[in-house]
Amino acid sequence: MSKMRAVQVSRPGGPLELVERNIPEPGAGSVRIKVEACGICHSDSLTVEGHYPGIQYPRIPGHEVVGVIDAVGPGVAGLAVGQRAGVGWHGGNCGYCNSCRRGDGFACETASAVTGLTYDGGYAEYLVAPASAVAVVPEGLSSVEAAPLMCAGVTTFNALRNSGARPRDLVAVLGLGGLGHLGVQFAVKMGFRTVAIARGKDKEPLARQLGTWRYVDSQTQDPAAELTALGGAKVILATVTNADAMNATLGGLGVNGTFMVVGAAGDLTVSPVFLLAGRRSVKGWYSGTSIDSQDALGFSVLTGVRSMNEVYPLARVSEGYERMLGGKARFRVVLSMEQ
Ligand SMILES: [Zn+2]
Ligand SMILES: [Zn+2]
Repeated sequence: MSKMRAVQVSRPGGPLELVERNIPEPGAGSVRIKVEACGICHSDSLTVEGHYPGIQYPRIPGHEVVGVIDAVGPGVAGLAVGQRAGVGWHGGNCGYCNSCRRGDGFACETASAVTGLTYDGGYAEYLVAPASAVAVVPEGLSSVEAAPLMCAGVTTFNALRNSGARPRDLVAVLGLGGLGHLGVQFAVKMGFRTVAIARGKDKEPLARQLGTWRYVDSQTQDPAAELTALGGAKVILATVTNADAMNATLGGLGVNGTFMVVGAAGDLTVSPVFLLAGRRSVKGWYSGTSIDSQDALGFSVLTGVRSMNEVYPLARVSEGYERMLGGKARFRVVLSMEQ
């Protein structure tokens, strides 16, 4: 049996180990992808630390996977060997349960699969994924460029396009990290008056380079007051993982405004009167399914949205993972199998 290089975690809290594994065979309804690039996402720490119920070890992390289909299992329609393909967090959905039939495949009741958590992910030369989890990757994006769009990209893109904001509306993006630097680009390209909010004056040149209309330094300015002075935000996309930063910004929502939470943080504090008097809402957003990822990729080709990446070979995965975990990466870390 042919072998592949892979990076696995053998136990909760265990190290990332470069190992040799058998190349997996695709079963019914699945395809095998020869991986070309895989992003390292903060959520990969769930696999590494074991902070997710029922993980079976050893497990290969990675849910920002891009490569080429090299084998197709029985019963797969619409995908073929040689096609460029990507797999994100959403590990597939059944298509027949009540949620799927309502168009809410993200909440599939039968297939609660998560790439790199409930089955092996993309820190490897090959992975097998259910066909329903596969996005077709367009020409116009390299695999390294496409990989971070499979989680960070689709999360911000999909939250914004479902936020209710319309062109020229005031939209704030809180945080300018891996998610935020993509969120600002998407917001600008969707035609919103975009306000980037981050800590420190030193982030402003980057925010301007990404096309933001206004920049708010949350260390020296009050983000809620600044947004209110601009008329109040229709949408605030909260990409940070810090509840204090979210709480300091929430008050900047305008009438009918929505606070869209995509970053996992501690508890929010919100005044019911503030919500009801202005018909404001707080809403969480799940990244998206394979077709949402495909739309995020296509939109990025169309408008020039790109992730800024630090690229590492598979053998230096631990170094890349530490960069991500320490918040030092500018801005996403991507493993390239070609290096
Ligand atoms: Zn992710
Ligand atoms: Zn389903």
